[in-house]
This record gives sequence, C-alpha cells and structure tokens, in this order.
Amino acid sequence: MLKKQQTQVVIIGAGPSGSVAAALLKQKNIDVIVIEKSLFPRFSIGESLLPACMEVIKKANMLDAVEKGNFQLKNGAAFHYDGRFSEFDFTKKFTAGAGTTYQVQRGDFDKLLADEAQNQGVELRYQHEVLNINIEHKPLLTIVDKTGQQYQIEADFVLDASGFARVLPRLLDLEEPSTLAPRKAIFTHVEDNIIDDGYFDRDKILISIHPDNSEVWYWLIPFSNGTCSVGVVAKESFLANYPSDNKRALQQLINEEAGLKRILKNANYPNQFGDILGYSANVKTLCDDKFALLGNAGEFLDPVFSSGVTIAMKSAELATDTLIKKFAGETVNWIDDYAKPLMVGVDAFRCYVEGWYSGEFQEVILYPKPNQKVKEMVCSILAGYAWDEKNPFVTDPYRRLNTVFELCKP
Ligand SMILES: Cc1cc2nc3c(=O)[nH]c(=O)nc-3n(C[C@H](O)[C@H](O)[C@H](O)COP(=O)(O)OP(=O)(O)OC[C@H]3O[C@@H](n4cnc5c(N)ncnc54)[C@H](O)[C@@H]3O)c2cc1C
Repeated sequence: MLKKQQTQVVIIGAGPSGSVAAALLKQKNIDVIVIEKSLFPRFSIGESLLPACMEVIKKANMLDAVEKGNFQLKNGAAFHYDGRFSEFDFTKKFTAGAGTTYQVQRGDFDKLLADEAQNQGVELRYQHEVLNINIEHKPLLTIVDKTGQQYQIEADFVLDASGFARVLPRLLDLEEPSTLAPRKAIFTHVEDNIIDDGYFDRDKILISIHPDNSEVWYWLIPFSNGTCSVGVVAKESFLANYPSDNKRALQQLINEEAGLKRILKNANYPNQFGDILGYSANVKTLCDDKFALLGNAGEFLDPVFSSGVTIAMKSAELATDTLIKKFAGETVNWIDDYAKPLMVGVDAFRCYVEGWYSGEFQEVILYPKPNQKVKEMVCSILAGYAWDEKNPFVTDPYRRLNTVFELCKP
C-alpha cells in the first residue's frame, strides 16, 4: 500500500505554464503541489517570448524578477527572404498592453519563474515524476521521488503542464495527430561575434527563409551574453538531402542563406546540436471536470511565430481563473470557461501558421508598402495578442488573411 497525500491541485511540470499556474492559485490560498521530474536549471527549446505573455507574468507577480533577470530585450521581429526584408515593431500594434519582452535562455528563465512560485509559498518537488493517474473517482496520481520511492497524491483537480512529455494525453488516451505537417528542427547556441552593420538588430528575432524553398525557415535569437540561438525548421524529406550529422547539416543550411551566412561568418560553435522531430500535436479534449491540459500538453502548433510560451501562459491564466471560480463554489463549465476561450487565440495562430507555410502570410509580412492600420493588426498577432477580439485578424483570421493577401500578392 503506497503512502497517500491529499491536496487541492496537483500541477505536473514546472515549465512556464506550471509555475505561473501555481503562483496564480497560491495567491487565492488554493493548496497546490507542483511535481517536476527534472532538476532546474534544465535545457528547453523556446527562447523568444512575445509581449503578450508579460501580462500573465505580471498577474503572477513575477514581472519584477523577470525584468531584473538580465535577459535580452526584444521589441519586435524581422523577416528576410531572398533580399526582401521587413520589420515589425511590437510597440506599434493595434492592441493595448506590453510592447516589449525578452529572449531568454530557458534554463535560467524557467528556474527564475519556478523560484518565484516557491517564494510565493508554492510547494515544488524537483526530481519527482508522475507515473500514473486514476481518475475514476478523485484524481489519484502515482509519483516516484528521486530515491525511487513511490507515493500517491489525491487531488480535487490536476493541471497537466508537462510540455512535450504530454503525460495525461498519454495516460488517458487523449492524443490526436496534428493537422499540421510533421517538421524537424535542428538547433544550437553559438558565440555569434556579429559585427553591427545595420542588418541585424539584437532587439529583434530574425526569421529568414531559405532562398530555394519557402517552407524552410531559420530563427536567430540573440541573448544578452553575446550568444545566439540559431535553428532551422524543415520537412524531413528536405533534410534528407543534407548530412545526417546535425552540425554539418545546420552549417550547410546557414551557408545557403546569404544574410545568415554573412552575419554568422565569425561565429563559433562550441555547444551541442539538438533536434526535435514531429513536435506538432493535438488532443481529443483539453479538459474535463477533473483535469485540464496546459501549454504543450494540449495542442502545440509550430514554432514559427514564437507563440508556445505565450499560449502556455495564457492557458495557465484561463485554467486558474476557472479553478478559482470552482473552489469559490461557483458552477463552472470547463469547455465554455477554459477550452473555448483558449482556442480563440490558438485558432488565430493556426490560420497564420498555415498561411506561413502556404506562402500567403509570408507575402503579407514581406509586403513593402503595407497599410498602417493593417500592419498594426498583424503586429498585434505577432506580438501574441491573439485573444484580442477587437482585432478582426483574431475573430475572422482566414477571411482577413485572404483579403490582405489579394492586395499584397506579387
Ligand atoms: C523547435 C521549437 C522552437 C520553439 N521556439 C519557441 C520560441 O521561440 N518561443 C516560444 O514561446 N515557444 C517556442 N517553442 C515552444 C515552447 O518550447 C513550448 O511551447 C513551451 O516550452 C511550453 O511550455 P510548457 O509550460 O507547456 O512546458 P515545458 O516548458 O516543456 O515544461 C514541461 C515540464 O514538465 C516536466 N515533466 C515532464 N514530464 C513529467 C512528469 N511525468 N512528471 C513531472 N514533470 C514532468 C518537464 O521536465 C518540464 O520541466 C518552440 C518549440 C519548438 C519545438
């Protein structure tokens, strides 16, 4: 018989969605235990934030700490395709709210958020891993600690913030294939030694498109310590024409994109090269009256607009708002109160991700003479304000994209 503990909420995972959710619950005196299988800091991909997530960080009382974290300021996004160049300044957007954010080494950033949650009184158990769950009655989780000892926690509710590990989708048979084509990313951190020649603005993420295949794109995410995260995203069939060694493949691909080749000509590559394949994922349901899936544990679309952490934090905000109502004795409907509001933003991003790979949204982004109002609305999306229902590019994304594309198409 395993030892059994009780709490109101268990959160699986202490990434951005888990830590923020924990702090938001603790602020309302809801008992919460966070179970995190690794020891922080640990590496995670997903280093370019969007300004919209600063609103949630502020609500979780973590803004001060993040601002003092020595991270690289980010005020926009730059795009390059075969000599065509465009920039979006996130302070010039349609939606009110923060216009700047940061580009972060996720090991440090996630640890900072987790420390802040602990400072606010959250109980966080590192190197404890959720192995199993039974939701026949109250959710009952089986956990193993770092010594190999197993125990159980019975909770009123479970938030799955386990990221790509997708613990509840796996254990409860909720997984569904993504509608987006599978792609692979190869990445590393470089000592960039970039000389400022006006092409690369360290306050922006640079997204470059491969000159021969517009579905293949690169990110260059500068950090505050003279290093950059650089990566490429492509279908496996495209990457089959490149060396199987990640380092050689990434370097060859960088050399095929003139802008990146030039600005990274003095870069050193002292770090490991990572890859991740088929990261897009979906689920049959995001919630029921015993659990909700946050961030990547739910649906993950695509990294192109750096929306992952923002969606993760927005999901934490919406789920905890619903839980706070539930614990206050109000009637809640998880689909109406959580899943549907979350999907407003996810579905808007989906439209622009699809439009990116079909090429239409790339034309809109790179159009040299945009209408100012339209540019501000598109900028709001790129800054992560995909839940602003005053923005027609949120409420009617496919029609809006189509209309603007007709005006921009070559
Ligand atoms: C190639 C690529 C590039 C990306 N670039 C960006 C970007 O620039 N900007 C951006 O915003 N997003 C980006 N993303 C997405 C981003 O990485 C994720 O959306 C984000 O990390 C999700 O946060 P999360 O809180 O859901 O989960 P995570 O940050 O993944 O945290 C999950 C935590 O759960 C823990 N865990 C897992 N299993 C268990 C278990 N059984 N028990 C206990 N703990 C467990 C893990 O150890 C981990 O710490 C990118 C994704 C990819 C694939």
